Amino acid sequence: MPAVTLRLPHWIDGQAREPAGGRWLEVFEPATGRAFAEVARGDASDVEAAVAAAVRAAPAWAALPNAERAAWLERLAAAIEARIEAFARAEARDGGKPLKLAREVEIPRAISNLRFFAHAATQFGSESHHGQAGLNYTLRQPLGAVAAISPWNLPLYLFTWKIAPALAAGNTVVAKPSEVTPHTATLLGELAAGIGFPPGVLNIVHGLGPEAGEAMVVHPALKAVSFTGSTAVGRRIAGLAAPLLKKVSLELGGKNPTLVFADSDWRAQLPVLVRSAFQNSGQICLCGSRILVERAIHDEFRDAFVERALALRPGDPMDPDADLGPLVSQAHFDKVMAAIARARGEGGRILCGGVALDRPGWFVAPTVIEGLGPDCATNRDEIFGPVATLQAFDDETQALALANAGDYGLSASLWTRDLDRAHRLAARLRAGIVWINTWLMRDLRTPFGGMGQSGLGREGGAEAMRFFTEARNVCIALDQGTPTP
Ligand code: NAD
Repeated sequence: MPAVTLRLPHWIDGQAREPAGGRWLEVFEPATGRAFAEVARGDASDVEAAVAAAVRAAPAWAALPNAERAAWLERLAAAIEARIEAFARAEARDGGKPLKLAREVEIPRAISNLRFFAHAATQFGSESHHGQAGLNYTLRQPLGAVAAISPWNLPLYLFTWKIAPALAAGNTVVAKPSEVTPHTATLLGELAAGIGFPPGVLNIVHGLGPEAGEAMVVHPALKAVSFTGSTAVGRRIAGLAAPLLKKVSLELGGKNPTLVFADSDWRAQLPVLVRSAFQNSGQICLCGSRILVERAIHDEFRDAFVERALALRPGDPMDPDADLGPLVSQAHFDKVMAAIARARGEGGRILCGGVALDRPGWFVAPTVIEGLGPDCATNRDEIFGPVATLQAFDDETQALALANAGDYGLSASLWTRDLDRAHRLAARLRAGIVWINTWLMRDLRTPFGGMGQSGLGREGGAEAMRFFTEARNVCIALDQGTPTP
C-alpha cells in the first residue's frame, strides 16, 4: 500500500501548524476504505494557541468598518470560486460524495454563505424605540472570539454557514471541522493565509471531539459555541457550556417526515421525492426518511418510488454518472447496516436494497422498508443513511399524528395541491422547517433550525447575526419641556 503523503495541519494565526502533541489521525477515502491522508490530532494546547491568536486579533477585527470585513469575506468567496474543482474533489475524496454534487451544489452553496454574510455585515440593522419620555436604541456588538464545530456530511457548506456570520458580525473564530472530512477546511485555511486574511481572525483546529472539541467548548475566552452535529454530542456540549453560562446554538439530528397526499402532483415530483430520501446517500440532516402516503395512492406510489430508487446509480464519487457515493466511514457503515438488520428484526419488509454493495468501500444500496409503525426504533431513531420507510395514512389527522411522532423536529415536506391543507398542516407540523411541494430549497435570509431533540436556537440571516452579537439597550431621556416623573 502506498505511504500516506498528504498531511493536513491546523491553521492558527495565519500559519500552518503541526499538532503540539505530534499526533496525527488517518483520513480515509470512503470509496476504497483506504487511508489517503493524515490530519492533525489537536489537543488542549493547540486550542490554547488558537484561542490566544483569536483573542489578540479580536479588537482590530471588530473595529474594522463593516464594509472592510465584508470585503474580506468576498475575497475569500472569490478565492474558493477560483479553485472550485480542487474543493469539490477534496470533498468527494474524504466525504465520498459524488463529485457533481460537490461541484454543482455544495461548494457553490459554501461560496454563497460567504457572500450572503458579507452583505449582512453591511445590511444588518438595529432597532430603536421612540417613546414619549425616552429614546431607546439597541447596540449589537460582537462577542469576541467564538467557537464553531461542524460535522462531516456537508463539510465546507456547514463550516462556512458558521464562520461567515461569526466573522461578518465582527467576531474572530476558532473552528473545528469534523476529523472525518477535514480536507476542505484545511484548503480554506491555506487560501485565507494566501490572500492575506488578517492573522488570528480565522483559526482552524483539527482533532477529535472529546479532545479538541471539548477543549474549545470549555475555554472561557471563547464566548459562544455554534455546533452542528448529532443530538448526543449536542446534549454533551450543552452540559459542558451550562456552568460557564456560555451562549450555544445547537443544530442536531432529525427523522424527517415526507407527507404525500393523493391530490399532489406526485408523479411529476417523484424525482425530487426520491432525491429527498437519498441525496448524499441519505446523509443530510434534512433528508426525508419517513415517507407517509395517503392510502388511496399508497400502492401505486410505493411501486413507482421503489422503481426509481432502484434506478439510482451508486458509484465511485469521481464518476460523473454516479448518483450515490459510499457512506462516510466504516463506523457509520456498520451503524447503518445494524439499523437495517434491526428493521428486519422489527418485522420490516425490505422492498429494495438492504444490502452492502459487493465492491470495496462503504456502499449501501438505497433501501426502502414497509410494514413498520411509528413506535418502532426504525421510525424513531435517526439512521442517517440511504434508508427510508413507507407508512400509509387515511386522513389528515392521522398523517399529522404520524408526522409528529417521535422526539425530533427538524424538517418536514408536504406534497399537496390543496393550499388550505398546506397552510393548516404547516402550522401544526412539529418541524423547524416545512417545505410545501419542494425540498431543500434555501433562502439564506430565513431562520434555520430544529425543534425538540433537533436543536436549540436558529441559524440563517438575522438570526445568525443576532446569535453572534450581544444586544445591549441604550436609553436616552427626551426633554419634552416637562419634568420626568
Ligand atoms: P457528531 O456529533 O459526531 O460530530 C460533529 C462535530 O462535533 C465533529 O466535528 C466532532 O468532532 C465534534 N464532536 C464530537 N464529540 C464532541 C464533543 N464531546 N465535544 C465537542 N465536539 C465534539 O456528528 P457527525 O456524525 O459528524 O454528523 C452527523 C450528525 O449531524 C447527524 O446527527 C446529523 O443529523 C447532524 N446534522 C445536523 C444538521 C442540522 O442542521 N441540524 C446538519 C448536518 C448534520
